Order: sequence, then structure tokens, then C-alpha cells
Amino acid sequence: MSFSASVLTLYPEMFPGALGLSLAGRALEAGTWSLEAIQIRDFAQDKHRTVDDTPAGGGAGMVMRADVLARAIDHTSPPGDPRPRLLMSPRGKPLTQARVRELAAGPGAVILCGRFEGVDQRLIEARGLEEVSVGDFILSGGEPAALVLLDAVVRLLPGVMGNAVSGEEESFENGLLEHPHYTRPQEFEGREIPEVLISGNHKKIAAWRRAESEALTRERRPDLLGAHPLPK
Ligand code: SAH
Repeated sequence: MSFSASVLTLYPEMFPGALGLSLAGRALEAGTWSLEAIQIRDFAQDKHRTVDDTPAGGGAGMVMRADVLARAIDHTSPPGDPRPRLLMSPRGKPLTQARVRELAAGPGAVILCGRFEGVDQRLIEARGLEEVSVGDFILSGGEPAALVLLDAVVRLLPGVMGNAVSGEEESFENGLLEHPHYTRPQEFEGREIPEVLISGNHKKIAAWRRAESEALTRERRPDLLGAHPLPK
């Protein structure tokens, strides 16, 4: 069974977007994963096809209605659908490579993209939505966040990345940021490729890369070191 993504959005034209190109696009064409973008507005019931209303308690902006969203979710993901239901949200748990791996190993995902001030809290509770954030900043809508999540997941699906090893050596896979990379030319504007990398000594190269990874992580993301103690 291939990974099946259903995205609920007011802007279905944003999909597959960037995911229609390159690795993800080829995998989509090959049927390694599937994507449907559902127009939430189709589940509105008044003649203006209203999906939002003013916030209870007052204040700026609009809130997406629980009843309209519930109809969209129930149509897309009826009871018994094994796929997790995600809500892209800056209040959610920050997305990690570990969660991306779990999702890639599963049957797919139903992804709700918020707009305006967000969605009615009762919908989140009633449909058991898992709130997922892509970072501590505010986007204008959940669509770019959904594209980010799906990009990270799809590249891990079997057969999508030509060279599977390069996936395993990357930043975060071992709790560290990745070491720097170099390629030809040997000299660029007076800067040489580090000597050790052209030594041909694979043991030394591995040790150098590990040391660079650790130094970079300590400098830029000491929080990662706490989460994954370094092997002695
Ligand atoms: N008023 C909200 C922000 C709404 S932004 C608040 O302060 O928390 C509108 C929509 O964009 C959200 O409903 C969500 O779906 C999406 N979004 C914004 N920032 C996001 C982020 N960092 N990660 C995931 N989704 C985000």
C-alpha cells in the first residue's frame, strides 16, 4: 500500500505545487504516494459557502467553523480510516525527523490546513486532531506547512531517494547536525578543501566528520545534545 495523503484546504490549487516536481513529483507519478486536495468550501451549506465566522468573545479576525470542517473530515476520513489526522498549527508539537519517520512508515495522513485565526477548538477535540507545527513563526495558512511535512515524509518512502545511505547520514538522524560538505574544484577563491578529505584515509575522514558534527551541534544547537547523549 502506498502512502496516501489527503489535504483539506481552502486553496487546493496550492497542491501538489512544489511536490509535483523533482523526487516527490516523480514518486507521485510512479504511484509511490498519492495526494488529494479537498476544497473545504465544498462542505459549507449556505448559499455564500461560508467556512468561517467571527470569534466568540470578540477580537480580530475570523475562525474556521467546526461544523463545516467536521463534514469535510468525515467525508475524507470516515471512521475506520487508519491514517492519523493532523492539523497544521503554530501551537502544535514541533515536527521532528522522528515523527516524519513514523508517518512515512504508516498508511498516510489526513492534513487540515488552517487559515484566518485558526479553527474552532471543539473540532480539534471532537475529531482527535494532532496539532503539528513547522516552527516558531506564523504562516498565513497551513498549506506551506503541509507541503513541508509531506516533502519530509515522501523523500523517506521506499524507492524515492536513489541513494538510501545519504538519508541516514543527515542532520538529526543521529541527533547531530551534519558535517560540512565539499566538492571540486580543489581550490575556490583561495580556499582549499580540508586536507583530510583528500587523504583517502576513510577512518580519519569518518573521525573528522564526527568531530565537525559535534562541534557544529555544540555551537549552533546545544539543545540537540541534551536530547541525544553522545556515545563515549
Ligand atoms: N492565530 C493563530 C495563527 C493563525 S495562522 C495563532 O496565533 O496561533 C493561520 C493558519 O496557518 C493556522 O491555523 C495554521 O494552520 C497555519 N500555520 C501558521 N503558522 C504555522 C506553523 N508555524 N506551523 C504550522 N502551521 C502554521
